[in-house]
Amino acid sequence: MTAPPPPAGRPPAGPAPRPVEGAGLGVRQWSAVEVIRAKRDGAALTDGQIDWVVAAYTRGEVAEEQMAALAMAILLRGMTPAETARWTSAMIASGERLDLTGIGRPCVDKHSTGGVGDKITLPLAPLVAACGAAVPQLAGRGLGHTGGTLDKLASIPGWRPDLTVAQLRARLAATGAVVCAAGPGLAPADRKLYALRDVTGTVESIPLIASSIMSKKLAGGAGALVLDVKVGTGAFMKTESDARTLAGAMVALGAAHGVPTVALLTEMSTPLGRAVGNAVEVTEAVEVLSGGGPPDVVELTLALAGEMLALAGLPDADPAAALADGRAMDVWRAMVRGQGGDPDAPLPTAREAHTVRAEGDGVVTAVDAYGIGLAAWRLGAGRTRREDPVSPGAGILLHRRPGERVRAGDPLYELRTDDAARLPAALADAAAAVRVAADNVRVTGDAVRVAADDAAAPPRGGHRALVLDRIAGTD
Ligand code: URA
Repeated sequence: MTAPPPPAGRPPAGPAPRPVEGAGLGVRQWSAVEVIRAKRDGAALTDGQIDWVVAAYTRGEVAEEQMAALAMAILLRGMTPAETARWTSAMIASGERLDLTGIGRPCVDKHSTGGVGDKITLPLAPLVAACGAAVPQLAGRGLGHTGGTLDKLASIPGWRPDLTVAQLRARLAATGAVVCAAGPGLAPADRKLYALRDVTGTVESIPLIASSIMSKKLAGGAGALVLDVKVGTGAFMKTESDARTLAGAMVALGAAHGVPTVALLTEMSTPLGRAVGNAVEVTEAVEVLSGGGPPDVVELTLALAGEMLALAGLPDADPAAALADGRAMDVWRAMVRGQGGDPDAPLPTAREAHTVRAEGDGVVTAVDAYGIGLAAWRLGAGRTRREDPVSPGAGILLHRRPGERVRAGDPLYELRTDDAARLPAALADAAAAVRVAADNVRVTGDAVRVAADDAAAPPRGGHRALVLDRIAGTD
């Protein structure tokens, strides 16, 4: 295990900030325009400039339009690793930093950059806890094709996302696994800045993405961190090269803040598992915790669990055994009950279901994650604005995955929604996402190589492995 995170209120890592001069205070105050011009002209910002601009923006003293200009300058000019580390420290220092030491277990966190059908936190947190670690998962409400992890769990009757820090510590000590809402006190600078970037075309800056994600994770008190950086059509990062750069930047930020961090690059051009939505993903996660579930979901859960347990100083733990013998399921049930949920209650189902069937015999050659995500969002599984509700029962069940054979009339996928008016557009997106090659057709190139007599199904939608690479710090 690593050194415990510094207590709340400690100044950011790195050299001490230059004194700030301001009218009436006897300290110098930076001008926002000066900071914007420096970055616009390609200079590296000083520690003092970064500390001041992030703090002043959080207090409302740097105007939104000034921060928008600075974010655009950063997007175009970039930031060095040292600037990015300082920016992250300043965002952490804008709020509280949780101290999760002293709960009797090594504490290890996980973050996924998000993908279609990504329910991995649900089996992973109780599994790693069943092996002896503590897993605090502080999450926000998801934007996008489906809800986030909190929305998925909220489909369990009675389950509540909000815990005080004292309750979080108590739940971690008792069960080892907690998934709860991140309070507004964690990295408030990021909360403001992310909303601003969203409406100013500045989300796509890798230093800003890395510092945004890592400031929240580091403020959340993780002693060690495993990142699942997804690559592909259904991911935030569409190319392996961008995902690798982001992963490297985040691993370096973890190291700069004394938190050992490892990233796995994982494939996200095909949805994970067979369920995409909220309640349907909880059902699939419970299948995994029961020792079954789709092989790719099990594979990724075990790969991430292995990394988390190694970083937690528990390299000899056997997560596969903890899945098979029911220990992970016991923790899941305790985790759900601990936040008011009933693990035995039936989950909500959508009012309308529509099954699409194969027109002829053949083999499924592609299930595109982006298209399926879009269809799930159209069905009501996801939200566009943070205040929008999500439909717990809406979503998609994939009856066939790439490489699997179908006969005419077999079900290919099922769309579920509370609102039948949503079906036509979702059907169009899903139809464009799922490709079936008729028997005796050999598909080559980007798609899976499949022939009519080729009985072996590839493990995921093609020749790409699920875990593409592992990126760890050099020290
Ligand atoms: N997720 C975050 O939390 N921040 C970003 O900037 C991008 C994705």
